[in-house]
Amino acid sequence: MEMEIDFSKVKGQETAKKILESAILFERYPPLYLFVGPRGVGKATMAVEFAKAANCVSNDVRPCGRCSQCHKIERFVHPDVHFLLPDKPEGLRQKLGQGGGVRPPDFDPSREISIRQVREIQYELSRPPVEARHRFVIILNGENLTIESQNALLKTLEEPPSNTTFIMVSDNPDLILPTIRSRARTVKFHYLGFNDFVDFFKSSTVSPAVLYRLSNGSVGEAKELINWGIISLRNQVLEILIKKDLDLLTAFIGELYVEKPLVSKFIAFYGVLFRDILLAKLGMSNLITNIDMKGRITEAANALHWKVIEDVFEALKKAERALKRNVNIQFILYSVFKPIFRYEEIVVV
Ligand SMILES: [Zn+2]
Repeated sequence: MEMEIDFSKVKGQETAKKILESAILFERYPPLYLFVGPRGVGKATMAVEFAKAANCVSNDVRPCGRCSQCHKIERFVHPDVHFLLPDKPEGLRQKLGQGGGVRPPDFDPSREISIRQVREIQYELSRPPVEARHRFVIILNGENLTIESQNALLKTLEEPPSNTTFIMVSDNPDLILPTIRSRARTVKFHYLGFNDFVDFFKSSTVSPAVLYRLSNGSVGEAKELINWGIISLRNQVLEILIKKDLDLLTAFIGELYVEKPLVSKFIAFYGVLFRDILLAKLGMSNLITNIDMKGRITEAANALHWKVIEDVFEALKKAERALKRNVNIQFILYSVFKPIFRYEEIVVV
């Protein structure tokens, strides 16, 4: 019977799967793969599934998910499947897989992978594999390697240890040295189609159609939106816009005031909401993103003057620029709401 490769844990990504399946079937592994594509579409999961398939001992379906090789890899305890992660926060390695995906829950995508960590892996690779047919080093994420770390890694790639493959996962490959990229076998990942996306959110309280539109089809991003309480957030913001209630706004900003990455996400989300309000005001509410909140959005559109909407878009542009500088976060948040209160005296038409 012919052996079958089962990458069904990753949704969609048919082209990537074909490339990786043939590597497994022919047992031909390049020293370096570069998995590139948007965040949250299955690149890291695929890296783990690939390492499983390459080491699985089943004769009919790989990865089988039942043999000891598969088990050790999916529990992140295989001695020959290494992960290169930022060194802060501490102990990330022990928390792999705990966030529902591969990356630990407190994984910060902006943290650097230091040269110390690259050296540790290099020491590991100087010794023979413990039990794997093929050894892996999975780098999360490639763009987080400092230039110094990349140069150190390049030395290893110039004389790659036998039976070892690096998998560099990246949503920003431009930050990876061309000398590294040119050595890599690049495998491209894409945003998921709606049908594949929906599978992840069947039991979600937020409509998958709305999540899909808000996240562009990135499962990782959609999960973040859910954790963030996107539903109550949309209700709160629309309530402020409809009532033009300054106390509500102050309370809301007090709660939201957390950290910069969240604020920048909020600014993006607020932009989507105002695009919807504008569409509703133009009588095109069938095109809005937050389709499940059409009623409230129409109410907000009726409550806000054209000039206010125009000024909010202007304020959003300034806010995006301010986020890149060190402007006070609360000030930025107030600035995008400010136009709502400025034209109180104007009669809404
Ligand atoms: Zn197996």
